[in-house]
Amino acid sequence: MLVKLSFDTYRKLCVLGVHSKFDVCAMWEGYERNLSVPGIYHAASPSGKIPLLKVLFTNRCERNCGYCSNRKDRDRVERVSFDVFELVRATEELYEKGFIKGLFLSSGVGNNAEETFVKMGEVAKILRHRGFRGYIHLKVLPGVPLDAIAYYQKFASRMSFNLEAPSTSGLEMLMAEKSLWYGLKVLSKIKGTTQFVVDYGTDSDVDYLKLMAKLFSMGVCRVYFKAFVPISHTPMEHLPEGSRIREKRLYEASFLIQRYGFFWKELLDGDRLPLNIDVKTGWALRNPHLFPVDLAIADYRTLIRVPGIGPKTARRILNLRRKGELDSEGLRKILPSFRKTAGFAVFKGRRLTADGDKFPMLPLFSETGYQYMPCGRSI
Ligand code: SF4
Repeated sequence: MLVKLSFDTYRKLCVLGVHSKFDVCAMWEGYERNLSVPGIYHAASPSGKIPLLKVLFTNRCERNCGYCSNRKDRDRVERVSFDVFELVRATEELYEKGFIKGLFLSSGVGNNAEETFVKMGEVAKILRHRGFRGYIHLKVLPGVPLDAIAYYQKFASRMSFNLEAPSTSGLEMLMAEKSLWYGLKVLSKIKGTTQFVVDYGTDSDVDYLKLMAKLFSMGVCRVYFKAFVPISHTPMEHLPEGSRIREKRLYEASFLIQRYGFFWKELLDGDRLPLNIDVKTGWALRNPHLFPVDLAIADYRTLIRVPGIGPKTARRILNLRRKGELDSEGLRKILPSFRKTAGFAVFKGRRLTADGDKFPMLPLFSETGYQYMPCGRSI
């Protein structure tokens, strides 16, 4: 092996790497792991996959959250903790050898949240003082005083705090000792990211969306979701696994609120997100009076509301239009999902078609052609 980790450190990476898997560090996190070094995960980013050492500082915990693999009363768990310098050395070694680009550090509470968080912060501080230039993510533990968080934030590239549930009643089910109020206070200071467990029984889409909108308005930069996973020997082991589709729909809703300017209530069908169709298409089908949109005249805000068109494609359309280079042939090439968009858009008043393609007719069009006035105004 290229890295000279001691047997003890290697064993801790095995245990604390596995137990960190419930913390999400990227939306499409790679589950493939580095086979020679435990604890390395690949987080997807716009610039490709980023290998991170993703570990807990300790899997000891004085708390008893109902769903957690590290809860105090869960038997048959090997409990281990890093020493501050041991984790510093392991991170440096893996970074210098090119195995990782950074450290994603979470933890059980140990005997005391503040004491454990300070040790995590010291890892970040010492790494920086020794010239470490990689990414450092610190997870804030519940109950840590705000001044300690502010002090160690200087050494982290990013901090996060897991709210876990979008309401007080949901939190009571998952982790009675955690306070939503405290979590919001922390997030208003650190901005950073947060994470929710999805589909554990009592959570509602209304609660998620309402809270998500509030978080984005506070400056929180990303919200992650993780479908509930029942863990053996916990009080919630009998519950079914959470829906991955619901997890996906919540991600879609988060992007539509944060990047597309949708008001959270617009995305709900009654009091739920649709499951059988993506969230934006669901919204479009509930608002037929706003379609079809004419791609030859629509402004940016209107374009990004058309199913299949995101900010990047909308900007490309506007760019080509400005240069007088947009035609229906060009649209076929730049629309990422021509089929999806074709049901909701026209170009210069004419339906979008592709040679040989027969798109299913949406109620927006009659079999004989385009019936509605193009909607080029801002939605
Ligand atoms: S505080 Fe965190 S690590 Fe401890 S039991 Fe609760 S969720 Fe698990």
